[in-house]
Amino acid sequence: MPEKQRRNHRAYREKTKRLRKREDTCWICGAWIDRTLDYRDPMSWTADHLTPLSKGGRLLGKMRAAHRSCNSRRGNRTDPVNPLPTSREW
Ligand SMILES: [Zn+2]
Repeated sequence: MPEKQRRNHRAYREKTKRLRKREDTCWICGAWIDRTLDYRDPMSWTADHLTPLSKGGRLLGKMRAAHRSCNSRRGNRTDPVNPLPTSREW
């Protein structure tokens, strides 16, 4: 259903926007996140799904603020710059 997906995507963006306003601490390493950094910066702000989408998590499921580098280190591969050869690293 393309229309539903579009609405979900919009809701997702609203949700991350609110989270970004509310949380500026990385839930993985506990350090402060500089929200002014460019999104390509490894220390920039990202919304991390507590349950990765690849593991059955929902797009609008629980999310926490995290550094981009911490987020990708978790194995939640949203970063195309750093692809892993296998589907599971743990
Ligand atoms: Zn971090």
